[in-house]
Amino acid sequence: MSTVDESEFPAPVWSHDEPRIAGATDVGVVRTVNQDAFGRFDDAERSEILLVVADGLGGHRGGEVASQMAVELLGRGVFEGQADPASRLRAAIQHANEEIYRASLDDTSLDGMGTTVVCLLLAEEGPSHVAHVGDSRLYRLRAGRIGSLTEDHSLVATLVREGVLSEEAARDDPRRNQILLALGVRPDTEIDVAPVELAPGDIYLLCSDGLHGMLDDATILTLARRPTRPDDVVQKLIAAANDAGGTDNVTVVLAQLPDPMPVDPLPVDKLRALATRWLDSTRALLSGAKEPERDSDRTDADAQRDDSER
Ligand code: CA
Repeated sequence: MSTVDESEFPAPVWSHDEPRIAGATDVGVVRTVNQDAFGRFDDAERSEILLVVADGLGGHRGGEVASQMAVELLGRGVFEGQADPASRLRAAIQHANEEIYRASLDDTSLDGMGTTVVCLLLAEEGPSHVAHVGDSRLYRLRAGRIGSLTEDHSLVATLVREGVLSEEAARDDPRRNQILLALGVRPDTEIDVAPVELAPGDIYLLCSDGLHGMLDDATILTLARRPTRPDDVVQKLIAAANDAGGTDNVTVVLAQLPDPMPVDPLPVDKLRALATRWLDSTRALLSGAKEPERDSDRTDADAQRDDSER
């Protein structure tokens, strides 16, 4: 039997309870076809969970095909091989890019198709990772705050980063759907991969721009807070995006990590007894006397004698 020194690894984040995960996609109010796709894949041996959201683009049925291909190819590819998680993610996304690109060349009805992708590879032990191409996002909710862990590969996001456009102006900019990177449109693509440090109680939210284009961060935070169940959160977010106009397909995948393991507090009387014994020992040492007997050996008469000596 092989043994592993546990001190080499950070404490497992969900050893006492699995993350609670839910996902859903909706066509929205305006469109007739849903080109978004999502998936969840588990590798029990490695104790890894892969969550994926993809948002397809391209006319006819191209967008649907591209996003579905991305989800399936990543679900298979990420758990292949023995490389570290970041390398496996990068290789699987690169492979998906090549396959989607090739399919678009082979079939004229799929010409020009592509897809965004965002994925979160949750690892129970060791670092977790996020990878993305395009403008689908990963948010983290922690300690009552929300922040995006991905930077959109979009024209508008680039203009905001460069200080040309304000965040407010970006929301209504007519160019906000222009993405700079997508899977399958070129023989290879840039991919952003970054480690994600998990903490108990974290909530991770992957979504297409049909969500973050309709709802601001504050609204997402309000709707995605605990203690609501993840499937209820997902439904509430989709309904809110549709209420706000629903001009795009909307997809949400949510992972709630378990709260910190509850620790039994030491009962007050036990703490008091420990403190009393420590004080007694210290007094005894200072006075040169032998260590006093345990409380349980003492009689009421002993206690009364002690009191009268003080
Ligand atoms: Ca979209």
